[in-house]
Amino acid sequence: MNTSLSGMADRRRQLLIVDDDPISRAILGNLIGESYDVAYAENGCEALAWLERASRTVSLVLLDLMMPVMDGVETLRRMKESEALRKIPVIVLTSEGEAEAETLRSGATDFITKPYKEEIVRARIARTIELAEDRQIIQTVETDSLTGLYSKDFFFEYAGALVEAHPGVQMDALVLDLDRFHLYNEMRGRDAGNRLLAVMGEGIRRELAGKVGIGCRCQADTFYVYMAHTEAHASILERISACLAEAGSGNVHVRMGVCTRTDMTKDLEGRFDRAKAACSRIRGDYLHSLAYYDDSQYEHDIHAQRLINETQEALRTGQFKVYYQPKYDITGSRAALRSAEALVRWQHPEFGMVSPGLFIPLFEDNGMIRELDSYVWRSAARQVAQWRERYGRLIPVSVNVSRIDLFDEGLLERLNGIRAENELPVEALILEITESAYTEDTEQAIAVIASLRAAGYRIEMDDFGSGYSSLNMLLHMPVDALKIDGAFMRSLSAHKKDTWLIGTLVDIARHLNVPTVFEGVEEEQQVQLIREAGGQIVQGYYFSRPLPPEPFDQIIEKDMEEAALC
Ligand code: C2E
Ligand code: CA
Ligand code: CA
Repeated sequence: MNTSLSGMADRRRQLLIVDDDPISRAILGNLIGESYDVAYAENGCEALAWLERASRTVSLVLLDLMMPVMDGVETLRRMKESEALRKIPVIVLTSEGEAEAETLRSGATDFITKPYKEEIVRARIARTIELAEDRQIIQTVETDSLTGLYSKDFFFEYAGALVEAHPGVQMDALVLDLDRFHLYNEMRGRDAGNRLLAVMGEGIRRELAGKVGIGCRCQADTFYVYMAHTEAHASILERISACLAEAGSGNVHVRMGVCTRTDMTKDLEGRFDRAKAACSRIRGDYLHSLAYYDDSQYEHDIHAQRLINETQEALRTGQFKVYYQPKYDITGSRAALRSAEALVRWQHPEFGMVSPGLFIPLFEDNGMIRELDSYVWRSAARQVAQWRERYGRLIPVSVNVSRIDLFDEGLLERLNGIRAENELPVEALILEITESAYTEDTEQAIAVIASLRAAGYRIEMDDFGSGYSSLNMLLHMPVDALKIDGAFMRSLSAHKKDTWLIGTLVDIARHLNVPTVFEGVEEEQQVQLIREAGGQIVQGYYFSRPLPPEPFDQIIEKDMEEAALC
């Protein structure tokens, strides 16, 4: 790294000469007075008093050893004890025969012997100042002032050096990340946030003490640790979590991703990318806070990267297909088609049909979800318009609105624009928003949802039961229907006795004065249970899988025939 001091070259440095002998002081002062601003002290006491005032501006102390009142060794000792004076370089002025090694050991940077030789004096002073300033520059950029850990650039440099210095030692790459830290910052303020980061830094430094390893703060709330292989990652995580909890971390939760020694073949940054991937895999997973990178994940990552690279092309060439799954109203004597959910699929030229469960999270991570969702909403709106034209009937479509969309200021205009292009009323598009967007993404998300609702959109809280809404929270949520997470249906078929669960879910919705939508319904018996419990809307393979538009026409036609018969 470039530690050039060219920017400082014009500044005249300030030096302090400490010597009880006035002649000695004058000789030295004369030698260097042209190049430096020189101050003088007659003994250690005077020197320390002067230094207390000038500690920030002085560049070097030239210190005689033998002095009355306070000698050089004692002065040096006191300087090293003082936080403010510790880093000021000191050149000891010695007469021949004095213990140079001893003074260097006690903290002097260099020594000059009397009688002074002009060349040597100038050269040593210049070199000592330069070294000290270089060191200071390095220290300010190499460490993160908040946590005392390395900054990212230096981290990788030193991690490489660490490996070279300990050739036989196998190392683990650890990535630690704070979940919900941004919320903490927002709610408790930046100072509190900074304190928490400092605690995290302290926790990491404690773990590394006495071990082969270093740590850095890589981004706001992401930390990298490179340390000798251990099996005790869980205990490390536990101790760091405990430090944070003690500091009042509230809802903030630490995750750790590890790429262990097994992958020493990869370059250093690559291994941290892997540890990071492992760490991302457990984002939002409150049951797991430690994850290891393995080969299957590597395959998965390569695949994911390809999908990401090919998204724009796929959008351009129409590889994304919107499927529709019917939703039925089961409150009457027959199951009546009420609406449909738009579900996107990727018809990939090489991989075949790719599930949204695979690519939606990727697009949420890199922001591409907005573009894809707009595409799906536009297709859905066009479809509703087509059905209206063909069957003279408005069949609303519910579209999935990602939590990322909620942070788009133009969201309402986007939706209104898409409707306007197809001359559709606001009832034509129902918005499905996952429960966790309500509970994790702060008040802002709720405010946006409320404004969509105020504009007339019907909002279904998707995946209800998978998040952490309390009943009390629910009472204040802007929502028009609870869409019960499909996992409940799955658990139902596994434990048939859990039928009371359906009743409870319906009761919650009744409490909120909204209907329930049950998804993932695969069996007749489940429909029966939902009907008995008083549930209203049902969606699932029992009625139909998600379908492309053409076969969906038959669903509509069948429904119209049945309606005509009633
Ligand atoms: P989701 O919104 O909860 O959608 C329901 C998922 O359950 C769909 O999976 C659907 O095909 C599946 N499903 C429906 N009936 C049954 C059933 O009877 N049994 C079982 N086992 N599954 C059933 P899919 O289509 O794979 O979508 C997965 C998730 O991807 C969706 O979950 C949604 O969160 C997301 N997604 C799909 N399309 C979009 C989209 O256009 N935009 C956004 N943002 N997310 C989407
Ligand atoms: Ca949905
Ligand atoms: Ca769902």
